[in-house]
Amino acid sequence: MYNIELGYVDVAIPEEIDIFEKIIELKEKKNVLLLAHYYQNAEIQDIADFVGDSLALAQRALHADKEIILFCGVHFMAETAKILNPQKKVLLPDMKAGCSLSDSCPPSEFRIFKENHPDHKVISYINCSAEIKTLSDVICTSSNAKKIVDSFPEDQPLIFAPDVNLGKYINKITGRNMLLWKGSCMVHELFSLKKITELRIRHPNALLIAHPECEASLLDTADYIGSTSGMIEYVKKSEKNEFIVATEAGILHPMLLVCPEKTLIPAPPNNHCACNDCGYMKLNTLEKTYNTLMYELPEIILPQEWIVQARKPIMRMLEISGNL
Ligand code: 13P
Ligand code: SF4
Repeated sequence: MYNIELGYVDVAIPEEIDIFEKIIELKEKKNVLLLAHYYQNAEIQDIADFVGDSLALAQRALHADKEIILFCGVHFMAETAKILNPQKKVLLPDMKAGCSLSDSCPPSEFRIFKENHPDHKVISYINCSAEIKTLSDVICTSSNAKKIVDSFPEDQPLIFAPDVNLGKYINKITGRNMLLWKGSCMVHELFSLKKITELRIRHPNALLIAHPECEASLLDTADYIGSTSGMIEYVKKSEKNEFIVATEAGILHPMLLVCPEKTLIPAPPNNHCACNDCGYMKLNTLEKTYNTLMYELPEIILPQEWIVQARKPIMRMLEISGNL
């Protein structure tokens, strides 16, 4: 059934079943809240009870009143749901759905870094492991990072981890000099500025919109910088019709749902692909989602002391940003 090496339930699904219908049926029967991030495959977003960015998903998880939370996203997101609502069973379709950014901050190394700067408070981006959260004073997401940083007195020395690109961007817009952990996301660092510049010449009316996990050279040329939900809102409200979208390609689906008449051009990465997929996000499939519902595996299990310790900085974030 659950194959620990593969990281998911490895059971063949009978060909005759309508997987879409079955997921809806099982969701009802087992009292499940299905949460999905904007980077998930379109069919998973379509079947979810709620689709959102990291902040909105954390908020939904906190207030979930169903017995089970099935999280179609990556591991740190499902962990955050478990930390916020520990009485619930939290399931993730594929345990190997990790995050390169989270992996770029190993707790043993970060602990030493923190110990070397005892006068600093630690702000960690939500894309980090539960253990890193236990070492943090407050968490932030790309939606509220500025607000969280601004909540500290100007003379308070700060460490920002793990995303160096978001950290540099927040330093720039707040005038701070936070000490940055040098982590990054392999998806957002892969965009080719050269190909984007060529695209802008061919589409002179298109606006460039970018996620703050992108490198500074790209962000410096962007017309809008924001979280996934911020980018969707921007496209929706803008009077312009053409956008070059510099983030994971899954976002095109919800953007087109709200703005079917607009032209969205995925920003090209530095390889042979036309758009950028997060290999971790895309590990979740409809089939794995079905098996996870069916067998209620794999489940997120965390040590109780991590839940207690990691909850404090996440709740602090929700309080400061007014998302409780
Ligand atoms: P958002 O919080 O903006 O949805 O970002 C999540 C993420 O993983 C970006 O790579
Ligand atoms: Fe992590 Fe990057 Fe994937 Fe977001 S896109 S989940 S930061 S690897």
